[in-house]
Amino acid sequence: MNPELKAEIELCLGDTSTEWGSSRWAAWRRCKRESYLAYDVKLERVIRDDDDEDEGRFGGGLDYFAVGHYCHGILRYMQRGAVKGEERRWEDVTDYLGMAVDGPPPELLEEVYRLMRFYWEFWGTANGGWPSEATITGIEEYLETPPELAVLPHTGRADTILEIGGQIVVVDTKTRKNKIPDDIEKFRRKARTRAQFVSLSGMLQMKLKLDEPPAVMVNAIVKTKLPQMQRVIVDIRQVDVDRWIEDHKANAATALDQQEAAALYVSNSGISDVLPYVYPRNLDSCAPELGSPCRFYGYCHALSDEERALNWGVKAKVLP
Ligand code: SF4
Repeated sequence: MNPELKAEIELCLGDTSTEWGSSRWAAWRRCKRESYLAYDVKLERVIRDDDDEDEGRFGGGLDYFAVGHYCHGILRYMQRGAVKGEERRWEDVTDYLGMAVDGPPPELLEEVYRLMRFYWEFWGTANGGWPSEATITGIEEYLETPPELAVLPHTGRADTILEIGGQIVVVDTKTRKNKIPDDIEKFRRKARTRAQFVSLSGMLQMKLKLDEPPAVMVNAIVKTKLPQMQRVIVDIRQVDVDRWIEDHKANAATALDQQEAAALYVSNSGISDVLPYVYPRNLDSCAPELGSPCRFYGYCHALSDEERALNWGVKAKVLP
């Protein structure tokens, strides 16, 4: 593979996570202990080849976070090509991943290939997969709340920013398990209360100093047996953004207090294991009867320290 192409693909596959993003704040609102384990300790489940006991919802099986990451990388690659006026093959990225040392396991790459094949067949590769009247004005653009807004920030990335007929639309691409329900209006009403969508609109409004918050387009890649591609535009109203800002200020102040309490505990006691003292459980979130169990269920509810030590650890995620 020529070095320029390789460098471009590697750039597109680069880490785009941000420190104080929607997922971290959502985890913090769900369970203080979950957010501490995931984002401060960076705890991970140890998956072994012969480990089928916890397959699926309890953390084994396919790494769906990685599937989403690679799909985002391919979209980025194609959109950057469109902005530069280049015709690109999305398969360049899967070819690269297939050859990479430490690349994804074959079943993961197969899933990425399957979803992307449907995506590009459905939307077409022209203009990075967007209608011809849309102009791509941003790709993976970093967003954050200004420091005067709250003591801790909210950060994020706009996967794509489009200008369509003079209107700015911020795109959030999601690989999802379930299709968007047929009652689109109901989906829109619910989406207007979701911090992950409202925060994108609000942060972009602040960044571009827009009079009104931009609409959010949910660009869904549904991982059903026969993958489905859906796009829904959600108009975000100023009242939605104002409500989110008010909430974020309060959450940020409480989270900072908690961090300060943890630091004080460490300096006073000399014990670094702050978990049981500063980060409370939310038992309602561990294994709800409806919905998925918490990713740390096996850690928090292990029957012994040995079991916990055997199955859980800290390792940096290595992407090819
Ligand atoms: S298992 Fe329960 S207590 Fe533990 S992090 Fe998850 S929600 Fe919190």
